[in-house]
Amino acid sequence: MRSVNIAIDGPSGAGKSTLARAVAEKYGLIYLDTGAMYRAAAYFALENGVDPEDEKAVKALLPGLDMRIAYKDGVQQIYISGENVTPYLRLPHMSKAASDISAHPAVRLKLVEIQREFAATHNVVLDGRDIGTFVLPDASCKIYLTADPEVRARRRTDELIERGTPEPYEKVLEDMKRRDHNDSHRAFAPAVQAKDAVLIDTTHMTVPEVVARVGELIKEREA
Ligand code: C5P
Repeated sequence: MRSVNIAIDGPSGAGKSTLARAVAEKYGLIYLDTGAMYRAAAYFALENGVDPEDEKAVKALLPGLDMRIAYKDGVQQIYISGENVTPYLRLPHMSKAASDISAHPAVRLKLVEIQREFAATHNVVLDGRDIGTFVLPDASCKIYLTADPEVRARRRTDELIERGTPEPYEKVLEDMKRRDHNDSHRAFAPAVQAKDAVLIDTTHMTVPEVVARVGELIKEREA
């Protein structure tokens, strides 16, 4: 049987991970959060005293990057050289570091290889920025999720409060806009909507509404 690959792309705060988790549960798929992989690569650079923006230094580190993905109680964990680094990946400073390191083609090629191998051997839903355009151009269902920047920044601010690492809304909005700009303007595999992706604007939608809409799309593609 051909494996099921669902690609969910879009800017931060659009609700990709919430949707991907719900879809994975509903359809018995494995959810791979590719943003966490870029965050883990950035963590590895910082731990080694390397600025994630420094392409030459990052490239020199890459042969030593040993990244493994595992699942504990259904939740994705990332191990770097055997250490579970998952608890550090959502710290506020890691967002910019991940965006900086993700601009380097050598980093992307290394992580994309892991992502493609994963998708070839499992029924998966992947979320990220370049899944439908670059990682899995033949994905069975492609979604491009978006929402107004102010709504996305509000969601991210609430998430940070919940995590116990609050930041002011204005700062979150400004950081998010800068990161979206970097992600969509980088030269290699930028964050753009695939031609055959379905655009869903979640600004005025609830989570169950978005999940139901994606359920319809999956059904249509199975028919
Ligand atoms: O989705 P998340 O906010 O965790 O992603 C962190 C950063 O990783 C993004 O801002 C983006 O720069 C990068 N990323 C990427 N390609 C992906 C997933 C994430 O470039 N497929």
